[in-house]
Amino acid sequence: VERYAEVAVPLPLRQTFSYRIPDELGERVGRGAQVEVPFGRRRQPGFVVDLTEAPRVPPERVKAIARVTYPEPVFDPPILELAEWVAEYYVASIGEVLMAALPGGLRAEPRRRSRTREPERLGLARAPSRLSAAQERVLAPITASIAAERYAAFLLFGVTGSGKTEVYVRAAREALSRGGQVLVLVPEIGLSYQVVERFRMAFGDRVGVFHSGLTKRARQDTWRAARTQEIGVVVGARSSVFTPLPALKLIIVDEENDAAYKQSDVPRYHAREVAVIRAQRANATVVLGGATPSMESFANARRGKFRLLTLPERVDGRSPARVRVEDLRAEESTARRGPVILSRSLASEIAERLARREQIILFLNRRGYAPFVQCRHCGYVARCRDCDVSLTYHRGRESLICHYCGFERSNIQECEKCGMIRIFFGGIGTQRVEEELQALFPRARVLRLDHDTTRRAGSHGRILGAFARRRADILLGTQMVAKGLDFPNVTFVGVIYADGSLNIPDFRSSERTFQLLTQVAGRAGRGRRAGDVVLQTYYPDHYALRAAAAQDFVSFFEHEARNRRELLYPPFSRMVNLLFDGGVEERVIGAASWVADHLRRQPGGESVRFMGPAPQPLSRLRGKHRWHFAMRAPRHAAVRALCEAALDRWASRERRFASVRFSIDVDPMDLL
Ligand SMILES: [Zn+2]
Ligand SMILES: [Zn+2]
Repeated sequence: VERYAEVAVPLPLRQTFSYRIPDELGERVGRGAQVEVPFGRRRQPGFVVDLTEAPRVPPERVKAIARVTYPEPVFDPPILELAEWVAEYYVASIGEVLMAALPGGLRAEPRRRSRTREPERLGLARAPSRLSAAQERVLAPITASIAAERYAAFLLFGVTGSGKTEVYVRAAREALSRGGQVLVLVPEIGLSYQVVERFRMAFGDRVGVFHSGLTKRARQDTWRAARTQEIGVVVGARSSVFTPLPALKLIIVDEENDAAYKQSDVPRYHAREVAVIRAQRANATVVLGGATPSMESFANARRGKFRLLTLPERVDGRSPARVRVEDLRAEESTARRGPVILSRSLASEIAERLARREQIILFLNRRGYAPFVQCRHCGYVARCRDCDVSLTYHRGRESLICHYCGFERSNIQECEKCGMIRIFFGGIGTQRVEEELQALFPRARVLRLDHDTTRRAGSHGRILGAFARRRADILLGTQMVAKGLDFPNVTFVGVIYADGSLNIPDFRSSERTFQLLTQVAGRAGRGRRAGDVVLQTYYPDHYALRAAAAQDFVSFFEHEARNRRELLYPPFSRMVNLLFDGGVEERVIGAASWVADHLRRQPGGESVRFMGPAPQPLSRLRGKHRWHFAMRAPRHAAVRALCEAALDRWASRERRFASVRFSIDVDPMDLL
């Protein structure tokens, strides 16, 4: 009997292809094998998803698999089935899902060699301590669920400093002691030192960590060791959710609200959602943890889909930081020329801490010196040639840089439109704050932590290490300073401009602002001394800021939920965003309208709210014009059916749309 394989290729095609298995490859071609197949005139990497005795096309037209590119199957059946679910739910190609699931070192196609970098070890992880009563209380149902070997999902809502990591470690120990394996997902390995180090400390070489600095060989070894159960714990970012773990008993998703869990390009899956499905299928326990739950997860907890566990207090009973909102409008009216960078009250707080030799963290989510450069005479703003965004002025390099595509040009001295020499630098970036600090506090030692100061290998760790050893008084930075850092001597956190993320035109901007501010505020007062936080804002009455200042997630959730319910936004609806981009704008608009008109005419669309087609807020990026058409409905099935209709329509598209790219984003994280 001839044997055939169904092969998925990493192309935007929602079908598999039949290939003959040549005798010489025989046994080596099983489900989950990575192969190379002739495809059109080329060869393609692919994955065997099924074995059959009958091909889907006449046997004489079936070609043979060219070779097996990895000596053993890379995926086991549960992972293949999980990938099928992902492809189905996110309307993606299963070949693309499987390719995205593989860590770099296992990919068959030639890749540029990445620089090998050891993860930075800061030695900041706290030694394990005895669990508090509150920690014991949340741990008990988790360990009971692990012991029962049934699916259960927990949302662990623990304020910053409440000892979530220790709960994770104890839960992992329980799973390991029962012969199980544990998957720990973190938003970004490089920014999750403390979790990674704590797991290494607890479990030594039973832990495998997938991080970007691993060599190809090390990745392969970790993958294989997970599959053969030589290691018990795998820690990794988003794509690690697909690591084969035959004895999986526990999945932990740390900082479950982090947007990094959603892949921003195809296949656009959300690792938190995939983790929940995976746990369900493996009869495993899943713990979603965070200091500020996502709207989705908290709504799921309210609906009873997740069991809510809370750690409302810091361990050792430390009191939460005191947060004060500073109204910049009052300051602005009496300001000297230029924007207010440090209000008088913020400056005096800083002076006080410096005098007491305590440390300070200042947060501003914008790097560079000034986010835009403008002519005072005619209003001209220097823009990126390929994106619809203003260029940021970087002092020192004396250049203007696009933060979206990296385009860089030299700074302008005179207006490019009217020729006047009346250029001014608008807005505030971290470099400008640094300059202001040096002017106001010439003796203060300031470290800046942003993309510009951490380009060189090891610099990130060096800066944090120096701050931890108190070689600096002030750590100033972008959201890199917001995540997971724990410096006991920091007693004060200042947010230079709390409104930055609030002004982004997106349905999640309030949620993101609340999360970010809560996260930043959590950096203050981690030691014995109580901490203080000042948020500078022009919107002191905005509910996201007030709730962040009061550190009251539930009141934020209630308010935000009302808004979203009213406007039928997730988590109170299911949303899908259809994306169109291309180099010629009228073609992009044409394609979007051609698909949208078709969808509006579909039966069953009464429950669906359509939005667009319209330019995306970032209407041009890297030279591509971007339009979108968003659909939302109370039930997933309604928008899902329209996705199928859109794909069918697109499959028969007219030739004039050949240069337009169409893709689908299910449960989008933003509409930017
Ligand atoms: Zn001008
Ligand atoms: Zn650009």
